[in-house]
Amino acid sequence: MGTVYKMKTCLITGGAGFIGSHFCDRLLKEGWKVICVDNIITGKTANIKHLFGNKHFTYIQHDVTKPLEIEGDIDYVVHMASIASPIHYINYPIKTLKVGTLGTMNALGLAKAKNAKFLFTSTSEVYGDPEVNPQPEDYWGHVNPVGIRSCYDESKRAGEALVMAYHRKHGIDTRIVRIFNTYGPRMAANDGRVVPAFITQALSGKLLTVFGDGKQTRSFCYISDLVEGIWRLMNSDYSLPVNLGNPTEKTMLELAELVIKLTASKSEITFKPLPEDDPKQRCPDITLARKLLVWEPKVSLEEGLKKTIEYFESI
Ligand code: UDP
Repeated sequence: MGTVYKMKTCLITGGAGFIGSHFCDRLLKEGWKVICVDNIITGKTANIKHLFGNKHFTYIQHDVTKPLEIEGDIDYVVHMASIASPIHYINYPIKTLKVGTLGTMNALGLAKAKNAKFLFTSTSEVYGDPEVNPQPEDYWGHVNPVGIRSCYDESKRAGEALVMAYHRKHGIDTRIVRIFNTYGPRMAANDGRVVPAFITQALSGKLLTVFGDGKQTRSFCYISDLVEGIWRLMNSDYSLPVNLGNPTEKTMLELAELVIKLTASKSEITFKPLPEDDPKQRCPDITLARKLLVWEPKVSLEEGLKKTIEYFESI
């Protein structure tokens, strides 16, 4: 008699999103069953359509701000649902607040009911416009609580507080990942974020819209590196927040020039006003992830941008 092996099941909210869909792929590759929940507000079924024939993959269209009732065993809840792009969360501030708070509560409630582990995808935005660079996990941040980004920043901060409360009060085995700027295939072309914006502008010969003087910095992590980090964190036993991101910091002007070079575009740069409360710098301190998860990004910005450019050329 062979050993009976029971497949593990992960419910992932926001599974049709950019990061979520890549994470569904990874879980299936690792031999898990996946229940993907998404309300398709910023996610797209196109991101998961290649999984529809897979018998270990189930898709449920549902808004996680409403309670989740799922039959059967669930071993892990990965709560990724979020309105994560500035242009979208500024357009949907109340939905953004709801998904970070009510959505996180509902997802935690499900984990509690199923006796499942729980992973919450938080964000570098919890650091706001940071006064220390790079940002370590023990930096408490510099967030404007009433600014236009507060709907996102504060709901993710509240989300982290909820996770810790369920962990402390109900003993749920939880993880928190603070995701820094991530890019790659399946980002929406009209997502508003800087990488798809610059690539689609460069490919169509339009001006690249650099906001402000372009001296603000971000650090861009390629999707495969991020997925590897989340997978490792999921399988660790560490319950406090962990930064995941690429620590190579670039100004937005440098990024624009690199995109122009890699697309061999004739586009030029134009300057537009800097959005309110746009953080001046952002760079992860990944000392903890290096030690705890033996993880660091492997894909250089040039290499990752080339793959992302190929994707945008193909769609
Ligand atoms: N940005 C830009 N041009 C664009 C879109 C964004 O210069 O067309 C800048 C934006 O002002 C910010 C940075 O690029 O400083 C990253 O913006 P994004 O919306 O990608 O994400 P954020 O890191 O601000 O959440």
